Amino acid sequence: MEEKMTRREALRGLFFAGMGLAAGGPLLQSLGTPAAAATVPAAPWTEAPEGTKIDTRTWSKMGETLGLLGLGCMRLPTLGGGGGGGFGRRQPLDQEAVNAMVDYAIAHGVNYFDTAPAYGESEVVTGKALSRHPRASFKIATKISNMGGRATLEAGKQMFETSLKNLQVDYIDFLLLHNLQNMEGYNSRFRDNGLFKWLLEQKKKGRIRHIGFSFHGSNADLPGLVGLYDWDFVQIQLNYADWKEMSRGWGSGGGNETSSEYLYNYLVGKGIPVLVMEPVKGGALANVSEGVAAVLRERHPDLTPAANALTFVGSLPGVMVTLSGMSNMAQLKENVSLFTGFKPFDEKEHAFMLTVADLYKSKGQIPCTACAYCMPCPAGVDIPGNFKIFNSASDALTLSDTGRKDLADKQKAFLKLYNDQDKAIRADACVGCNACLPKCPQHISIPQHMTRIREIVAKL
Ligand code: SF4
Ligand code: SF4
Repeated sequence: MEEKMTRREALRGLFFAGMGLAAGGPLLQSLGTPAAAATVPAAPWTEAPEGTKIDTRTWSKMGETLGLLGLGCMRLPTLGGGGGGGFGRRQPLDQEAVNAMVDYAIAHGVNYFDTAPAYGESEVVTGKALSRHPRASFKIATKISNMGGRATLEAGKQMFETSLKNLQVDYIDFLLLHNLQNMEGYNSRFRDNGLFKWLLEQKKKGRIRHIGFSFHGSNADLPGLVGLYDWDFVQIQLNYADWKEMSRGWGSGGGNETSSEYLYNYLVGKGIPVLVMEPVKGGALANVSEGVAAVLRERHPDLTPAANALTFVGSLPGVMVTLSGMSNMAQLKENVSLFTGFKPFDEKEHAFMLTVADLYKSKGQIPCTACAYCMPCPAGVDIPGNFKIFNSASDALTLSDTGRKDLADKQKAFLKLYNDQDKAIRADACVGCNACLPKCPQHISIPQHMTRIREIVAKL
């Protein structure tokens, strides 16, 4: 599948061949209280020198050479500071900051830019930034986000034409059917209305170069969707915490069995390049608890928690691009530095990261990636915001040993963060309407978590 690799990549491929694996979470989001960041004395990385470029992989079937790191444009910087968001989050984006990030990315060999109609202003702002560069210097990935009652042929056609206009291009390099979960969803959104057929016609006309889908279903749903067409690539959620089992969080009922390992190995076995989203689990793996951060720091002193997560993903030879939803230049610089002269994990380090995954999961975090697909909540609750606050102290809130001072301090900090929110957006405001449930690609039992947070706050 992957025919031309850097020397380091070639060595990596040999390593995984002997591993018995078929070879095998946006970054540094400001999520939670980053206990790790607070205790790390200085950034353990240096900026990639001017003139250097990130590592690439060549995919001969597609005729593409792609940087191993891609810029995810769902969490671009906003004028108010911080990262923007997808569905339901419409903060104005900071065009100048995005221009600067795009310029830096292209100068350092990042050539894959991922956006979607569902990401608010992202297509427009990304299009403006990229239009200042030669068309051949970047690849655009966008999606058909025809969820939420927009599954007609006309709506799909309109969405595609608007994407071209917003992005100021006359062809899309990588077009994804957005957020496919199962055959039923594919049939209603793409087959029955004739939209997929129309998209294939656009591909024949050269208006789409490669076609794939982003997958948010369970293990059992993937083979059927893969069998529908000779896909050029498939995008999946892959990170070390989800490798063995994608946690659905408290109250999920244990259904929807999914693991990054299964999805990755299935696609590699079919010879399909794997595009990775959520390598850092929406920032959660960048802001791990101090206990997890200390274990990582001892083993890999030169890597931040986020860099550990990205290295885990980039080390897998079937990965085409590791997409990181970056929100500022510092994140971009760190990630570019990591993927310039990339040092992959070997078999031992891969296994070590899986032990870290167990430790991470024992902290009781809600597996929210802050994608905001569940927003807006009709009752006004800031769903990802409440989960972010809960996760900043999840171990202290779920452990019974509250006599410990460090846990008590965390609980106090949680309570302050919670109460500092506007009353109207707190978990208390949830009316249990369940409108958010089908929208969450992580299948999180959102209303149950809201009840639980409310109960914890009442007890504290
Ligand atoms: S269940 Fe609660 S959080 Fe979800 S949409 Fe309804 S009110 Fe909002
Ligand atoms: S609860 Fe689900 S849909 Fe909402 S932000 Fe978190 S992961 Fe995304």
